[in-house]
Amino acid sequence: MTTTSTLTRADCLARDARDPLRALRARFELPPGIIYLDGNSLGARPKAALARAQEVVAQEWGQDLIKSWNSAGWFDLPKRLGDRLAPLVGAQAGEVVVTDSTSLNLFKALAAALQIQAASPDPQTAARRTIVTERSNFPTDIYMAEGLAQWLGRGYRVRLVDAVEELADAVDANCAVLMLTHVNYRTGYQHDMAGLTRLAHARGALAVWDLAHSAGAVPLDLHGAEADFAVGCTYKYLNGGPGAPAFIWVPRRHQAAFAHPLTGWWSHAQPFAMAHGFAACEGIGRALCGTQPVVSLALVECGLEVFEETSMDAIRAKSLALTDLFIELVESHCAGHPLGLVTPREHARRGSQASFTHPHGYAVMQALIGRGVIGDYREPAIMRFGFTPLYTSFADVWDAVAILKDILDSQAYDIRAERSAVT
Ligand SMILES: *Cc1c(COP(=O)(O)O)cnc(C)c1O
Repeated sequence: MTTTSTLTRADCLARDARDPLRALRARFELPPGIIYLDGNSLGARPKAALARAQEVVAQEWGQDLIKSWNSAGWFDLPKRLGDRLAPLVGAQAGEVVVTDSTSLNLFKALAAALQIQAASPDPQTAARRTIVTERSNFPTDIYMAEGLAQWLGRGYRVRLVDAVEELADAVDANCAVLMLTHVNYRTGYQHDMAGLTRLAHARGALAVWDLAHSAGAVPLDLHGAEADFAVGCTYKYLNGGPGAPAFIWVPRRHQAAFAHPLTGWWSHAQPFAMAHGFAACEGIGRALCGTQPVVSLALVECGLEVFEETSMDAIRAKSLALTDLFIELVESHCAGHPLGLVTPREHARRGSQASFTHPHGYAVMQALIGRGVIGDYREPAIMRFGFTPLYTSFADVWDAVAILKDILDSQAYDIRAERSAVT
């Protein structure tokens, strides 16, 4: 679609001047000369994280040594951070822990959900064997589900659908779990969580949600949607740091039945009794497994603190304004170039990113990165731009599009660009 925009850079600066989130940009370390549009993959560093890392390494570890498990609250950190994260996803205190990776947490949630179904007194429910998800889901989610299904055997399998419209058929009498990623990592398509959870429940299935591209990006109401389990990343929109532990949500109504095979000592009722035989603790601690990377875990708090100074509604309003602006400017200023928007225009179906295809998407993205505009590339031919309202300005959007236009107009990209290991 071609549009003609009458907006100017001065209009963007005026929007920045009115932006209620404007002051929060100063809470992040952003290198000069960089427009960072990849906070959906690795969030920028909260400035506070440096001092916090120094404190954990120099004082808590260096001086206080093993006492810090108690005195610095290391042992309680997964739960304390979970309680702080809970409001961002519509969960309650005591229902979230920050721990392990998203892949592992998904494994736990799926295993628990399958077990709840298999333990049903209703033989037809107990006989349900499929995990339904989308072929376009993030690969690790599908790999973990397939790995679990193969490990279980007994007819368990993953059923992949190619379009949202096919979900209604796929969630049939054999479906045990509907496992979906709320916002698609490639296209930015946002599912209707409440509607699809209702569909799953109406058909007798449980609904497991991956919030990797949603937490900190869009308002979430897990309880309102009556979701069953959820997992998500802290290193994307939550700015927790590279490889920071992920989170898992187990609502109170499922905690007593929450059982998974990764029965490590951190989920034991009395971990320091060093007892023979596993006995699960009560509550959300059941979702824990073993000792956590404390240095990394501690830094997650610096990201969460920033969210407490605003609201997800304010973040969402700016996110939609930023993505609308980016789409409008790209379609207007880069008209005539073979760019195709793959992100929904409809606000309700959009996450906090805008993705465009280009036949030389990888090469164009490399050229953008070379000019200081950092987005990323995802197969096939998709240039992905993430918008993080806490630190992205409207002028950033203007400048990024101006650079994209210049690269496209002058064909200043190398179509033989070598792929890096991580794109
Ligand atoms: C980013 C992402 C992950 C990452 O999983 P890790 O275990 O942290 O590597 C998983 N699922 C989805 C949908 C993601 O977007």
